[in-house]
Amino acid sequence: MAYIIAQPCIGVKTAACAAICPVDCIHPGTDQMYIDPVVCIDCGACEPECPVEAIFEAEHTPEPWRSYVGKNADFFRKA
Ligand code: SF4
Ligand code: SF4
Repeated sequence: MAYIIAQPCIGVKTAACAAICPVDCIHPGTDQMYIDPVVCIDCGACEPECPVEAIFEAEHTPEPWRSYVGKNADFFRKA
C-alpha cells in the first residue's frame, strides 16, 4: 500500500510533503498534490510534514475521504 493525499490539501498545496519525499513521487495537480502509489515506498516521511493533516496511509484514510485513494492513483494512470 501507499500513502495518499486527501481533501484538506485542496487549495493549500504547500508542497512541504514533496520536498521531503525520498523518491519524488508527490506531484502537483491543479487542485491538490498527489502521491503516485506505484512509486511510493510507504516510508511515512511526508505525513508529519503536512500542516493540514491531509496525508494518510491508504488503508487508514478516514471514511469521508476514501475516494481519494482512487483519485491519487487515477491522477497518474490517466495522464
Ligand atoms: S510515504 Fe514516503 S515515499 Fe510515500 S509519498 Fe510519503 S515520503 Fe514519499
Ligand atoms: S504538505 Fe499537505 S497541504 Fe502541503 S502539499 Fe503536501 S499534502 Fe498538501
